[in-house]
Amino acid sequence: MPDNTEKYKTYKAQDEAKIEQDFLKGTKEEDLGIYCNMFSAKSSIEGQDGGVVTALLIKGLEEGILDSAIVVRRGEGYSAEAIVATNAGEVSAAKGTKYLRVNVIQKLRELISQGKKRIAIVCTPCEVKAARKIQQTLKNDCGITIIGLFCFEAYDSDKLKKEIKARLNVDLDKAEKTQIRHRKFSAFFDGQESSCKVKDLDNATEKACGYCDDFTAKFADISVGSVGSKKGCSTVIVRSKAGEKLLKNLGFIKEAVDKEEIVRLAKFKRERAKKSLAALNNPK
Ligand SMILES: Cc1cc2nc3c(=O)[nH]c(=O)nc-3n(C[C@H](O)[C@H](O)[C@H](O)COP(=O)(O)OP(=O)(O)OC[C@H]3O[C@@H](n4cnc5c(N)ncnc54)[C@H](O)[C@@H]3O)c2cc1C
Repeated sequence: MPDNTEKYKTYKAQDEAKIEQDFLKGTKEEDLGIYCNMFSAKSSIEGQDGGVVTALLIKGLEEGILDSAIVVRRGEGYSAEAIVATNAGEVSAAKGTKYLRVNVIQKLRELISQGKKRIAIVCTPCEVKAARKIQQTLKNDCGITIIGLFCFEAYDSDKLKKEIKARLNVDLDKAEKTQIRHRKFSAFFDGQESSCKVKDLDNATEKACGYCDDFTAKFADISVGSVGSKKGCSTVIVRSKAGEKLLKNLGFIKEAVDKEEIVRLAKFKRERAKKSLAALNNPK
């Protein structure tokens, strides 16, 4: 099998440099990407962590900075689907993390073809890059604000449900919330928590995630995650003028983040991707 590692690395570096040059602002760190501000925040909304993503989208829609927002709503059971929200109620109904890979890019294409001009999209790092590629091809004045979620990996819904049933004897379809924190996966039923180690769920992860080297959604306008913040707060990394505009005048309670914790996980994910790619090129 030909080893295309070097060719791939060169293409990837040029591609990423162009995205950085076209959209981002600030100083660059290898594990965090380009950023101009970073803090921990809590909004008045009870979201997955600090409710920051939901608060940003509601403000953006109410102030006319946005005309539509692509979010991910829980479907039947433990499933998820991308939808377009145009008001606070629809955004709120989609709050909370669904630890699944969801295709949000199709909705972005639809909104662009409908002529929407002020779109926000919430997505995991893999989809952030796809959204940027689309944005680079736009020839009109369509503005896209990308909110990237930190992501170590996503799960296959059926496999996850099976694994959780086998380990915890609970039906994930009935969980009102799921949360990954400090290497623990928790599902909540009537406020009661059932949890196991994240490591025990390895068989249920999306296999492509093992090749992804981006933990903090480095090419988004604003990245949001829980790592680096205390329980109930979100880590916010601001990376562009579009990100600053959406954040302006929002009355969040702000604190400093634990940057080392974020860097440690980002490095870990990058090393894992390196090993996975090396194994592809040198199969035993
Ligand atoms: C698959 C996945 C893995 C993650 N892993 C980590 C991690 O390892 N470490 C970490 O710190 N953070 C991780 N996060 C991010 C974290 O769980 C929170 O989403 C983030 O902190 C925002 O919290 P919030 O309270 O501001 O969000 P909220 O205000 O509750 O809003 C969450 C937003 O995310 C959208 N959303 C939910 N699920 C998805 C999805 N699958 N795809 C796209 N959009 C979605 C919702 O529609 C909503 O708009 C992950 C998120 C996902 C989707």
